[in-house]
Amino acid sequence: MEYLSTRGQAPVLKFSDILLEGLAADGGLYVPAHYPHIPLEELERLSRLPYGELAWELLRRYLDDIAEDDLARLVVRTYTATRYPFARHPARAARITPLTWLEEGRFGLLELSNGPTLAFKDMALQLLGELFEYVLERRDERLNILGATSGDTGSAAEYAMRGRERVQVFMLSPAGRMSPFQRAQMYSLQEPNIHNLAVEGTFDDAQDIVKAVSQDAEFKRRHRIGAVNSINWARIAAQVVYYFAGYFQSAERVGEPVAFAVPSGNFGNILAGHIARQMGLPIGCLILATNENDVLDEFFRTGVYRPRASSETFATSSPSMDISKASNFERFVFDLVGRDAEALRRLWQALETQGYFDLKGTPYWARLPEFGFVSGRSTHADRLATIRDVWTRHGVLIDPHTADAVTVARCAGIEDTPVVVLETAQAAKFAETLREAVGFEPPRPAELADLEQRPQRVTRLPADVQQVKDYVAAHA
Ligand SMILES: *Cc1c(COP(=O)(O)O)cnc(C)c1O
Repeated sequence: MEYLSTRGQAPVLKFSDILLEGLAADGGLYVPAHYPHIPLEELERLSRLPYGELAWELLRRYLDDIAEDDLARLVVRTYTATRYPFARHPARAARITPLTWLEEGRFGLLELSNGPTLAFKDMALQLLGELFEYVLERRDERLNILGATSGDTGSAAEYAMRGRERVQVFMLSPAGRMSPFQRAQMYSLQEPNIHNLAVEGTFDDAQDIVKAVSQDAEFKRRHRIGAVNSINWARIAAQVVYYFAGYFQSAERVGEPVAFAVPSGNFGNILAGHIARQMGLPIGCLILATNENDVLDEFFRTGVYRPRASSETFATSSPSMDISKASNFERFVFDLVGRDAEALRRLWQALETQGYFDLKGTPYWARLPEFGFVSGRSTHADRLATIRDVWTRHGVLIDPHTADAVTVARCAGIEDTPVVVLETAQAAKFAETLREAVGFEPPRPAELADLEQRPQRVTRLPADVQQVKDYVAAHA
């Protein structure tokens, strides 16, 4: 498989070359040159495979410069019930992403948050850890990952990279601004390759420091600084797999359509659904749900894409969707404009100069229905009402992000196909909001009962670029 930049002005590369990189040299995002099509007979065969083998069958088409046997080993080792143990019904943990029907055959939840950090980021990042180690070993290289987190991504990255010899992780977090659970989750890791840096400032301060360090090309090169951000193609590829796994568990017969509803922020999760659909998986529609930060809903309703400033971004009770600019959206727009890199460049030029683009009235907008998107937004009050309703009617606790998607999916009025909501986090992570919704705190997995009591390993630093650089230089 060859990978092209959405902006069309960067070299064509292979998977291993883009794995450790961020943006393409022309500022675009790498995408596969085509989406391999999977015919119906092949889908039937795949439907009988356990998750690890299914993942290998799909990923080998994209990661084809990794020897097939090696890839099989990495993938099968990743997708086990030992790594994803926290299923709602432990007997179903071996499915990795088990389906829970709320209404049998009609409305279900696909559990994507049974990994170590109880959020769906683990689905891709656990594999990314294996892939990084494999490629770094073959090249005899090392990598220092620098990132900023307000919670989920940072901890999923740390759990994926803990103990890996060729990788050091330097993760900046805003001191005193995460929940005790989130803090304990990250800071209790004792592996010497994990460096938790609590910055005296906000998440934006932490992110600005990471940006400043990344703009110092000389420092970046000297210390081999990389990232594990949401635009990483391997993460998207890994996420394609669970759409297939979810489809096979919910379709009445292989070939019948199923709709998926996705709590969205950076457009990474739902982009994987779009790709699965392009590969021939019979996805009826893709229901995109946002919270009050509704940039994406605005686009799918009006044709206007207008990213917001961080000052216009609300802090909500589904915080992992508090995003003002959807970093993976460019990959979808590339397909929408018929993979015309010049057309894409013009749109992103408009974003630079006027702050938005408007597709209404263009031929691209006329094509949008082919892609099957439906969208909607949800508010704090909707989230609480939905969590309460799902608990009282079905006896199932869902987290606020999943609740956004359940809210929007119910409003979408889809009657003729099963609807599967992607469950992106466990309720246990959001005890405060759950208490507000149902009056009690959700139980958490027994293995994590003492999380906040475990010893913590964290270095506190002022929000100062030079001090962070000094720390990285001393420990890289
Ligand atoms: C990251 C995240 C999302 C948003 O996913 P995107 O791929 O950024 O659209 C939704 N819910 C949870 C719990 C998350 O951690």
